Amino acid sequence: MVKHDQTFLSVKKLIIWLFVLASVLGLIITAAFIAFIWFWAGGREIEFEISLSHSILLASAIIFFNFSCLMIVFYRPFIRVRKLISESPFSDSFSFSARSFNPFVSIMGSIKKNNEKSNSELEKLNKLEQYRREYIGNVSHELKTPIFNIQGYIANLLDGGLEDKKINRHFLEKADKNVDRMINIVMDLQTISRFEASELELEKEPFEIFQLIEDVMETEKENAAKNQITFELFKGREIMVNADKFRMRQVITNLLVNSIKYSKQGGGETNIRVYDLENSIKVEIADNGIGIDEKHLPRIFERFYRVDSSRSREKGGSGLGLAIVKHVIEAHDESIEVISTPGVGTVFSFSLSKPEK
Ligand code: ADP
Repeated sequence: MVKHDQTFLSVKKLIIWLFVLASVLGLIITAAFIAFIWFWAGGREIEFEISLSHSILLASAIIFFNFSCLMIVFYRPFIRVRKLISESPFSDSFSFSARSFNPFVSIMGSIKKNNEKSNSELEKLNKLEQYRREYIGNVSHELKTPIFNIQGYIANLLDGGLEDKKINRHFLEKADKNVDRMINIVMDLQTISRFEASELELEKEPFEIFQLIEDVMETEKENAAKNQITFELFKGREIMVNADKFRMRQVITNLLVNSIKYSKQGGGETNIRVYDLENSIKVEIADNGIGIDEKHLPRIFERFYRVDSSRSREKGGSGLGLAIVKHVIEAHDESIEVISTPGVGTVFSFSLSKPEK
């Protein structure tokens, strides 16, 4: 595109050139005019006297006249041509910079510009390729474990386990659990890709936030008890929010389940608070679990990122939970924050908007 500051410079330069041209032309015409008057007056023996100051005054008037004529004749067409070129599809190859009067400089400039453009496009393509490779690697790695597990259980059953009443049911249950795990991974991946492709439309509706939190607590009660975790909700008067209830259930579930998965040995406590702010609300989920080292915090919302992969897998994690949480919150135009201290605990907090009054 034409750079405006350069264009402005070149217009200025053109005016200066026109001015110089007009001045030279003016001087020549003035000299010719004075010489003509001189000879004409001399030839006719007419008393004619012209002083230096009068000559300068006359010359200036002619210069000014010439300059005005040139400006009127050339300035408007120049502006029009410049506009036409800058709007044309070739505008990238043209530039009305002061240097563009030299075609070699202009060609070199456009070659350099094109090179820079292709380099940045190449960089983008390389990043996309690396992202694609990592993504495929991560997906196959996640699916590999449950597939091999299922294969092992089926092989054992076929090798005679099916007739052994002591193990057949147990193996089938294990295989079923791995199928569930695969389904969860695939569903989570589908949710993330739909968010990334902006295909997921939120279905916002007004609902009471404490009620939703209590619902999720009830669903996860058994899981929490098994891990000696107690949930405590600091309940105030009812607060309405405007959000996608199904997706918010997913957010609260993921955060509560994480507070169970990453608790310390011997159990712990998860406190849930809701702050009623002027135009929005803030939900805070705080645990006293293992915590997260500061260096991992900027990456925990990335898909497949885990602080401790073996612990995450052992607890049934896919590394996708927080990525979904962030997508859901951001799709609501809200934000999520995390504060954590290793060995002390982690606090996740996110905002939500209230229904319009
Ligand atoms: P995962 O399926 O592994 O739990 P998430 O996306 O939910 O994946 O979380 C990413 C990582 O962030 C986890 O592997 C874990 O290391 C860390 N993490 C998440 N929540 C907590 C928490 N409440 N306490 C400590 N670490 C956590």
